[in-house]
Amino acid sequence: MVTPPKLVLATDLDGTFLGGSESQRRALYDRLATHRDRVHLIFVTGRDLPHIDQLCKAPGFPLPDHIVGDVGTTVVDGRSHQPVAAIQDWIATCWADGGPRAHALLRDTPGLSPQPGTFAYRASYYYEPDVLDPDVPERVRRAGFDCIVSADTFLDVLPPGVSKGPSLLRLLDHLGLPRDRVLVAGDTLNDLSLFQTGLRGVVVGNAEKALRDATEGLPHVHHSPAPGAAGILDALDHHDLAPWEDSP
Ligand SMILES: [Mg+2]
Repeated sequence: MVTPPKLVLATDLDGTFLGGSESQRRALYDRLATHRDRVHLIFVTGRDLPHIDQLCKAPGFPLPDHIVGDVGTTVVDGRSHQPVAAIQDWIATCWADGGPRAHALLRDTPGLSPQPGTFAYRASYYYEPDVLDPDVPERVRRAGFDCIVSADTFLDVLPPGVSKGPSLLRLLDHLGLPRDRVLVAGDTLNDLSLFQTGLRGVVVGNAEKALRDATEGLPHVHHSPAPGAAGILDALDHHDLAPWEDSP
């Protein structure tokens, strides 16, 4: 039997794993590299696979074991990018013909513009907070989708019941990873579902206020004063999850 990891780090990228100063990022990445065989690293991000590939080409950037990308609608092996079929099939079934339906619903909506790129199981837009009718997210949900707005910039239309948190839980179960060794980390509202899983987590110091407010009072969520990567390191101590604590 394979030894379970000491830490499962399931982290958002922009503003979180990529957040903080250069030296703060380096401190986290070096720590992870030294103890890499004890860590199962999962990127849980709104970004798509080509973008993540670019990041991973940087020298010294930690390579993930798995990726939950596209706001939870892509679940793949971190190296081969092979889909985790059981989960990807569930997402595809939930989405059905969602792309054309979502675009028909939202076409010509003032304050919305489609994000460039082709996404298999989501429809993603940029929005202008001062222009967009605040009823739009609810209208999208009434049409049978999930809808997440975050960072005053992004509006994502997702398959019902699919987002970062539910996809991560399915992946943990599929891989048999221990939930009590998981730290989730994020900085914007598209990370909220990670903190609603009940897993231990960290809202990093540079997080948007809406996420801090939405996670206020959740006992398993640490609000770190430190930004990005430094917030993750702080939370590993806070939650007693640091895989190097009992190192020889
Ligand atoms: Mg982020």
